[in-house]
Amino acid sequence: MYCTQCGLQLEDSDLYCARCGHPTRPDLVRPVAKPRRLTRAVRGKKLGGVCAGFARYLDMDVTLMRILWLALLFVSGGIVGLVYLGAWIIMPREDEPKPAAT
Ligand SMILES: [Zn+2]
Repeated sequence: MYCTQCGLQLEDSDLYCARCGHPTRPDLVRPVAKPRRLTRAVRGKKLGGVCAGFARYLDMDVTLMRILWLALLFVSGGIVGLVYLGAWIIMPREDEPKPAAT
């Protein structure tokens, strides 16, 4: 096996090139995780985007998240509605999708 970047001969077990550090098996190397931000979703939102934002942050299904919010809303007698409002005010909006170039 040879490094695709600099051509150095490598062991088959090497994950990185010893000389240039180029990953030899990108499929095995975990991609650098994007920093997570709790933001209100602009895309796929139904109300304020809070549910979609939370769902994305927690890697949850957005529908399940909405059901959870609704259930909590009923159980809490409306207090969760205030939490939702607070979250909507506090949470920054995610970056708007760039408008398509014309
Ligand atoms: Zn290399």
